[in-house]
Amino acid sequence: MAAPAKYGPNPHAGASVNNAQARGWGTGWPHAQTSKMTTVTAAGVKVSVRREVAALVQTLLLVTEKYGYDVKAGQTWGFANRPIAGTKTASNHSWGLAVDVNSIPNRQGTPFKSDLPPKVVSAWESCGFYWGGRYTKAKPDPMHFEYIGTPKTVATHLAKAKAMLTPVVAPPLDLSLLMKQWRIDKGKKPTETLSASEKHWIGWYRRSYAILLTRKGVKFNGSESFVSLTTRFQRAYGLAPDGVPGPKTADMLRRLAGYRVQP
Ligand SMILES: [Zn+2]
Repeated sequence: MAAPAKYGPNPHAGASVNNAQARGWGTGWPHAQTSKMTTVTAAGVKVSVRREVAALVQTLLLVTEKYGYDVKAGQTWGFANRPIAGTKTASNHSWGLAVDVNSIPNRQGTPFKSDLPPKVVSAWESCGFYWGGRYTKAKPDPMHFEYIGTPKTVATHLAKAKAMLTPVVAPPLDLSLLMKQWRIDKGKKPTETLSASEKHWIGWYRRSYAILLTRKGVKFNGSESFVSLTTRFQRAYGLAPDGVPGPKTADMLRRLAGYRVQP
């Protein structure tokens, strides 16, 4: 039984997954590769994998979390010097090239059952991992991701994984932009307008206000003016409620919302 349609077609359809030795990873089970393993710590779990793929696995675990999937300790692991269950074929776990993620909601068997978001599966697949949820000859094993690249392809896959991790961060809180929005709201300079990127960042500041006002139980209307939100914020956080996003207000917003210090 194939994985549900929401996971899309298998990008590695037809790829051979049980040839790690031929791909340059040395011999697997029963030969123990223990000395080649290292422990990856990320997303609240510790996973033992081959040193060469450690950064890749670490990055993908972080991407998995970033995409909203909570990786759980006690159900997530890597290296195990063993054959594939019920066979005499070495498992990719014996090379430290396979990772099982959240075994409980993603147990091997039929019918197919998994709580992995398609976006997470696609992240691992695009970085050289074959997903066990795609198995058709063996029973689907959705917890299982195995690296089917070679030692030489790791760097490319790592760069790809890192690109997915590039954080969306707010800019340093820009006081001059806050004041520009205030002038526009007040009609001080009718010719002034915000550029697309300035609008984008004002959106960030509005969302920060919204979060911080909600935290204080202050009611507000999502479409009210920036000046009005600023005033509510100032009143809620013990500042003079004049609606002007001056240095004190900006500093409070920066600290509470975690914006970086303006260089
Ligand atoms: Zn596995």
